[in-house]
Amino acid sequence: MKILAALLFLAVELNFVSPAEQQPKYPQLEKQDSLTENIFLITTDGFRWNEIFNGADSLLINDKEYTKDPELCKLLYWSDNPEERRKKLMPFLWNVVAVKGQLLGNREFNNEVNVSNIFGFSYPGYNELLTGTTDIMVNTNRKLNNSNQSFLEKLNKEDRYRNKVAAFTSWDVFPYIFNEKRSGIVINSGYKNVEGKDLTEGQQKLNTVQSQLVNEKKSTRYDMLTFVSAKEFIDKNHPEIVYIGFGETDEWAHSGRYDMYLKQANQFDKFLEELWYYVQTNDIYKNKTTFIITTDHGRGYEYESSWKRHGPLTPGSKKIWAAMIGPGIVPLGEIKVAGELKQKNISRLLVNMLGKEDKTATNDTLIAVK
Ligand SMILES: [Zn+2]
Repeated sequence: MKILAALLFLAVELNFVSPAEQQPKYPQLEKQDSLTENIFLITTDGFRWNEIFNGADSLLINDKEYTKDPELCKLLYWSDNPEERRKKLMPFLWNVVAVKGQLLGNREFNNEVNVSNIFGFSYPGYNELLTGTTDIMVNTNRKLNNSNQSFLEKLNKEDRYRNKVAAFTSWDVFPYIFNEKRSGIVINSGYKNVEGKDLTEGQQKLNTVQSQLVNEKKSTRYDMLTFVSAKEFIDKNHPEIVYIGFGETDEWAHSGRYDMYLKQANQFDKFLEELWYYVQTNDIYKNKTTFIITTDHGRGYEYESSWKRHGPLTPGSKKIWAAMIGPGIVPLGEIKVAGELKQKNISRLLVNMLGKEDKTATNDTLIAVK
């Protein structure tokens, strides 16, 4: 492990796309003396790169069809200065990750993070992100058990990580995406109550709230409940490999509520901040934990209503972003170098960060130099 750690470069390869230089170009890389011990992969469903890098959209935030109170919404999230604007919307990403980590996917610099599957919707996106494969058979959002194995399932099979892997999600399809029965990983999803002995007070309260106080239970649980579920479990059990999947950004976008889409993104940023602060003030996790933050798919951008949609026929659905912070990540901030990270390689990147090699994954955009 030590030798591997010393030899491994943690690198996001950037396939250089500028015709001026044909050679592959990488962000500045440093050898890592110590790799990360814990990985937290955190997603918010269908959130666009446009808002990550540019903040609120001027047309949509001023359109009363999508934003009920433009004046108030602009006090919260608007500035004429794009850098101030994005910081107002996602303060943790721009105050902390931009200083201590990396943000990828700003097309203004031809820096791209892209979905490889042809569908541009959730199940194929999560399959690609979590299993490192694009599977033509994964082409629906229906509750079908996934034949592909996620990196969490693979790690959970190893003695080192057994019972150190857990997932918490708002969308109730994840038990199928993870193939819960086969994988054996802990997963709390949708409005399923937290199970097990010796529940914390917080877990008991969560069960009470979601079973008794939420009247209309849809397929996506309130993100706040998913956050509480994750936080309580993490503080009690200290898992090393964690996935948290939030879902309300996509729900509000489909409903055409740009104001709520922004508010939910801002809430997502607050979840990240709270969790990072917890991790960095906890002896078990401090300076040993890496966050990878991303999304399952993009959404439309070409005309004013296309932001509500995504899918194979909506341009923009394959354009995503990623943010990373932790001991495995060189603090380069916003990456302004042309290049591409593919969604299907993110799981391999994560496994590499643990000082391991996922031999089953594709080999096309990551390097592990020996
Ligand atoms: Zn959607």
